[in-house]
Amino acid sequence: MASNKMDLLERLERNTVLCAEGYVFELERRGYLKAGAFVPEVVLDHPEAVRELHREFLRAGSEVMVALTYYAHRDKLRVVGRENDLEKLNRHALRLAKEAAVEGNALLAGNICNTWVYSPENQEETSEIVRSMYQEQVGWAKEEGADFIVAETMGYLGEALIALDVIKSAGLPAVVTLAACCDTTKDGHSWESACHILEEGGADVVGLNCTRGPATMIPLLKKIRKSVKGYVAALPVPYRTTTRQPIFQSLKEKGHDYAFPLNLEHFLCTRSEMADFALQAQKIGINYIGICCGGAPHHVRSMAEALGRRVPASRYSPDMSRHSMLGSDEVVREDHKRFLKEWEAVSAVTED
Ligand SMILES: [Zn+2]
Repeated sequence: MASNKMDLLERLERNTVLCAEGYVFELERRGYLKAGAFVPEVVLDHPEAVRELHREFLRAGSEVMVALTYYAHRDKLRVVGRENDLEKLNRHALRLAKEAAVEGNALLAGNICNTWVYSPENQEETSEIVRSMYQEQVGWAKEEGADFIVAETMGYLGEALIALDVIKSAGLPAVVTLAACCDTTKDGHSWESACHILEEGGADVVGLNCTRGPATMIPLLKKIRKSVKGYVAALPVPYRTTTRQPIFQSLKEKGHDYAFPLNLEHFLCTRSEMADFALQAQKIGINYIGICCGGAPHHVRSMAEALGRRVPASRYSPDMSRHSMLGSDEVVREDHKRFLKEWEAVSAVTED
């Protein structure tokens, strides 16, 4: 049957594309995935949890269902002793994402990421291993009907270029995003120059994902926007990173250990802050906007609505006019507003 679904490039040509990621962190918080190795065994052990999260992101406005194959590569599965489940896990993740995508006219993205195998010191040998890891994952994604492939959290430009080559050889569109952990890529390129090289190499969308919160990703995005002619992606983590603590791995409260990865809640961005990011990113010309580790459906819905969209979950978007104390609607009882005065008095004390 012919589909009338617009592909990624058609959507980007017409409008901003919104894409939710962060499945690994959210499923860890929900008790379905083990922090540490962060391997998405949940795909096989609790597929219903993955299916549900896809649907929640879909209802919140994500136009892309990214298959949960992040860290589902040969090397990481070896770490948890499940190398034999490699193909089964990948194909199953793709099918779960496809099920949700079909329900909401969304796109299906295959997903590959940094391997922790690539090493410039032993480039020839490690490049071949990385290439074969990507080839098997991209091959399964293509067979399962992926509309495009996301290669994400790349720290080395060299590794990102291998991913890009494998994706293009498979004949699929490529979204390649780098994790800007330091001032340059791990192999010494500025982020804007790395994005430019990836674009020249045939990437359809280039940009940044993960690691940085909105505040410290925006300055880099402005530079990338100038160095790249085509589509740019930005999927920050929803954490309040700062100039002094520019990545979520460096967030730290005075007198405490590093908050990453288990105690980040103190730094979590609100839905309004993520909505502001979506608008800011759109204003500087970012085409593919999203969220990464730490993101949840309420963030995504607010981002979608900030971009002027009404999404399925908007049916339950806040309506404070009917709140018992804050409400302005005539159905709200006037006498209940006195509780608000008491509340304000306590708040004033707290602020002191
Ligand atoms: Zn992330």
